[in-house]
Amino acid sequence: MELPHIDLITFSGQPQAGHYMNNHELMQDDLAVLWHPCSQMKDYEQSPLIPIRRGSGVWLEDYDGKRYIDAISSWWVNLFGHANPRINAALVEQLGLLEHVLLAGFSHEPAIRLAERLVELAPKGLSRCFYADNGSSAIEVALKMSYHYWRNTGYTQKTRFITLTNSYHGETLGALAVGNVPLYKETYAPLLMETLSVTSPDCFYRESGESCADYSRRLFPLMEQMLEQHCETVCAVIVEPLVQCAGSMRMYDPVYLSLLRAACDKYQVHLIADEVAVGFGRTGTMFACSQANITPDFLCLAKGLTGGYLPLSAVLTTSRVYEAFYDDYSTLRAFLHSHSYTGNALACRAALATLDIFAQDNVIANNRNLAECMRKSTLHFSDHPHVGEVRQCGMILAIEMVKDKKTREPFAWQERRGLHVYRHALENGVLLRPLGNVVYFMPPYVITEEQIQQLADVAWQGIQRATADI
Ligand SMILES: *Cc1c(COP(=O)(O)O)cnc(C)c1O
Repeated sequence: MELPHIDLITFSGQPQAGHYMNNHELMQDDLAVLWHPCSQMKDYEQSPLIPIRRGSGVWLEDYDGKRYIDAISSWWVNLFGHANPRINAALVEQLGLLEHVLLAGFSHEPAIRLAERLVELAPKGLSRCFYADNGSSAIEVALKMSYHYWRNTGYTQKTRFITLTNSYHGETLGALAVGNVPLYKETYAPLLMETLSVTSPDCFYRESGESCADYSRRLFPLMEQMLEQHCETVCAVIVEPLVQCAGSMRMYDPVYLSLLRAACDKYQVHLIADEVAVGFGRTGTMFACSQANITPDFLCLAKGLTGGYLPLSAVLTTSRVYEAFYDDYSTLRAFLHSHSYTGNALACRAALATLDIFAQDNVIANNRNLAECMRKSTLHFSDHPHVGEVRQCGMILAIEMVKDKKTREPFAWQERRGLHVYRHALENGVLLRPLGNVVYFMPPYVITEEQIQQLADVAWQGIQRATADI
């Protein structure tokens, strides 16, 4: 897709006589004042920052005019490309009407219509929508709501949460506490509530010849035991359905979710499905939970919700939960949680435009072809001497680099093999951002088969380069 020509206009809107900022100049300005997320700032001495001037479809363009395919959807948020004309148009219209109004005592049409649409799309039984403004706060909301539900219904001893090893639920303190990726968690451990953790059904560790389903089923008794032992003090089990994304894109079988739903019912514990990353078609169905045909008690959505435009999240829950809070003011049973930007009108409108695209285009079916193309273009990766596994779940494909193919011994993290792939890809016009030793594709759904082939070629060369010394 060609990017349109842009006149010489600076960011402040003032035309400047013949001077574009370039990457280097902007990087200098940036490093003088900004502190970037998920970054050791000193790394930017070696890996330059890339200031992006504009985007179009899968493309990002920097200030030197170099273009990159956004193969990771800008941290998994972008579904239908950058500067999507349909989402843009909806936002422009909304800007002329209402940008924001507080959602306590007031309401607006985008918030109402979006809640209706989400309830309609979500697994059956989820009939209430509570907004927040990012994935982590959606998790905070679900944790608080679950705990508060039990408190309101007389189960005051329920205060704990069960989580899977290798899980990630965000980085605010509550969300971090129920996560399990040591890199994010260990430093802050003294600040976090204690949780009960159960070994993840992560199929990377299945025996050779064992199916993912068999492995996931074999691991379930550990969860069952934990529930049996602690259900009286446990509010909820929280999981990322099917793919532990930040946990190296590790995957498990839907059967685990079916077993988990049944066990949560049996032991009277809530099930929180964190679909912040896997929701909205990523795994091949609109929501990952549908693949196990289950309804969680809480469904957390964010990331792709606005098509990657604006921060917004939603927690969907059941009327049963809702009703446990519905009472006279003086009973003090109301749910106490709010963010200034709860249910922001622009963000809701972007989300509505995103859902319109799902409704109007044949997105989920079309993704099946794209996913198949991703699979085919990486078939030969399994034979690479330093690829331990190629795994896929819908529009997520991950390639795990290992030091020893037979034993799957990992590369030492200090070697930062993924960083070599990252740099190689950037040189070649692709934004890949491996998680440790795991290279993955999680592209916008508007990617073409040709572009997927390009990702695969660049990833292959990058892996070659990253592992060439051994
Ligand atoms: C990204 C992510 C979060 C946190 O969302 P933020 O918007 O980054 O706070 C929570 N859960 C999962 C599964 C995620 O991938």
